[in-house]
Amino acid sequence: MHELSVTQSMLELALAKAREAGAERITSLSLVVGDLTGVAEECARFYFDFVARDTIAEGATIAFRGVPAQARCRDCSTTYAPDDTIWACPACGSVSAEIVAGRELLLESIEVDGDTDTPEHTGG
Ligand SMILES: [Zn+2]
Repeated sequence: MHELSVTQSMLELALAKAREAGAERITSLSLVVGDLTGVAEECARFYFDFVARDTIAEGATIAFRGVPAQARCRDCSTTYAPDDTIWACPACGSVSAEIVAGRELLLESIEVDGDTDTPEHTGG
């Protein structure tokens, strides 16, 4: 159920932003999701369809940008990509590391339809 609460808060954030901008419709959302958040893209998409129903974000497309996990060794400051099982520093072998990337979970941007921007007219 992790994805459900995450998706819901992302939606609420998007709706608030759209309201601020006076938008009538949210057409797409861009999310930044770190590998370590445990949020599965498929699940999030599924839940989004569910929570966005009857809101101005219904039918919006979601763009996911994954952020690979990255750790920094506390002993030698080497930054490396930790494996699922091996967290030892490749340079010195220390297992004392801090996570510096991969826990991101944020709404990067939204695209809206509204009266603020006039869409381009193409073709004709
Ligand atoms: Zn190290």
